[in-house]
Amino acid sequence: MTRVKVGVLALQGDVREHVRALAEAGAEGVAVRRPEELAAVHALVIPGGESTTMWKLATAFDLLEPLRLRIKEGLPAYGSCAGMIMLADRIEGGVEGQETLGGIDMVVRRNAFGRQVDSFEADLDFAGRPVRAVFIRAPWVESVGHDVEVLARAGDRIVAVRQGPLLATSFHPELTGDARVHSYFVEMVREL
Ligand code: GLN
Repeated sequence: MTRVKVGVLALQGDVREHVRALAEAGAEGVAVRRPEELAAVHALVIPGGESTTMWKLATAFDLLEPLRLRIKEGLPAYGSCAGMIMLADRIEGGVEGQETLGGIDMVVRRNAFGRQVDSFEADLDFAGRPVRAVFIRAPWVESVGHDVEVLARAGDRIVAVRQGPLLATSFHPELTGDARVHSYFVEMVREL
């Protein structure tokens, strides 16, 4: 694979920032809003934003099932914040009936770090790389299954995980101008 084409789910959330970080990581980021666009990418980023809105829009745009199917077929995907919630098999603190795409065997708690005013930044070790992490009404991972690798913690809370081709972070690396997490993802996609 020469140039990796990574879709950024563009229903809602900070799409442009991910496209920019992907370019810095040497990949081509393209917005994905329709099933045909999803079919044309090698990998997918699910941005931060609001998971309840993303779920409703994915349903309205007929993307929920195509997304689930491609993830089941092994599409590499990276979810940040709301995107982490979307990739969780199970969530706590969701709204009535809230569905996810699933794929990572974990329980994620929405808004676990508190409300908007409780947003914060921290220096983390992410898979052996130093990363400045921005948390905005961020979820954390309550528990993980055997096949899930923990890549980062903030204090004793799990904030980054990987299961096979799926990567998720509670924080927003796309907002810091530091493309290390995106580079990790692009390398992952190249190796798969
Ligand atoms: N709290 C949001 C949600 O539940 C996530 C916040 C974010 O992506 N910054 O979807």
